[in-house]
Amino acid sequence: MRGFFIPAIRALTALSVLFALPAAAQEEGGWSIAIHGGAGTIARENMTAEQDAAYRAALQRALDAGATVLREGGSAMDAIQAAIEPMEDDPLFNAGRGAVLTWDGDIELDASIMDGRTRDAGAVAGVTGIRHPIELARKVMTDSPHVMLAGDGAEAFAAEQGLELMPPEWFETERRRDSLERMKAQRLSALDVDVKFGTVGAVALDRDGNMAAGTSTGGMTGKRWGRIGDAPIIGAGTYADNRACAVSATGWGEFFIRVGVAHEICTRLRYRYRAEIEAAQATVPLDEEGMPTYIVHASEFGLEATHAQEEIDAVIAEVGALGGDGGVIVVTSEGYPLFSMNTSGMYRGRATSDGVNEVAIYADE
Ligand code: ASP
Repeated sequence: MRGFFIPAIRALTALSVLFALPAAAQEEGGWSIAIHGGAGTIARENMTAEQDAAYRAALQRALDAGATVLREGGSAMDAIQAAIEPMEDDPLFNAGRGAVLTWDGDIELDASIMDGRTRDAGAVAGVTGIRHPIELARKVMTDSPHVMLAGDGAEAFAAEQGLELMPPEWFETERRRDSLERMKAQRLSALDVDVKFGTVGAVALDRDGNMAAGTSTGGMTGKRWGRIGDAPIIGAGTYADNRACAVSATGWGEFFIRVGVAHEICTRLRYRYRAEIEAAQATVPLDEEGMPTYIVHASEFGLEATHAQEEIDAVIAEVGALGGDGGVIVVTSEGYPLFSMNTSGMYRGRATSDGVNEVAIYADE
């Protein structure tokens, strides 16, 4: 990918168009990662100092796990899995252990993963007893001819693949049982009892310029009738495309599905410089068969972080306009690790080869 950069810049110079130079994270061999542990009504006044510290420590652990893989030259796919698995094990988050309960008091997990290099993807929906649904989603991608498996079939596939299984009591926590009981007793909605979503996700750009995204969740408290949210839906909760970005979402899944949030963000970023890309492409020399000697794409135009942020915010605003709420983490192919949310907070973190290393909770941080 990077090999195309210089010729494209030459093409641009020929057009006398001045673009911002690429971000430092786009330097050859740069890497970038962002993680989330859910968005929602997360207010300082409702958090004790201990809770605040516990979330920050858990986020930092997950971020460090992913960043270590990238720093050592590992792939974006391995990095996001390494970041997501500790959050699946941590009862603070609504994924794996500590996931929310369905109306019937069970735990049904959804997850998906996407490789931006090939646009291969894997997803599982409504699975029980799988310790790491993100690993199962990856197995669906690498070891099955399918993209998405659900319920019993997905569990049979997990057993065949030798994935780690856990008994129901390992997943269930008192806090989630209380939320379900409160919801039923007071006829509340999932949003009233949960106030925050708690899904986990990670997105990354590795030193080779490859991107990946993954999301894992228990869905929403009191979900019924085999409800599936956005998290396992490629294009809604998760998307990765080396030409543009990697996205993982958290929020009121029905709205994220309707907007096609993750794919919409990548498409907007890919087409941000569409006219300029076409003009630059037209200047590319052709080979003897009349084919272009290289392909120009958006990542070569040094998309500025503020422009990317505007596009991402516009998609979250669309979710809001329909009545939904939540947020996303995005890493662009330039290496910008970005967030957007229309909630008062989102558990999140980001790290890059430029030395960024931070976790945050409230929207104003
Ligand atoms: N998006 C998830 C769902 O709707 C919930 C979450 O983000 O926590 O299933």
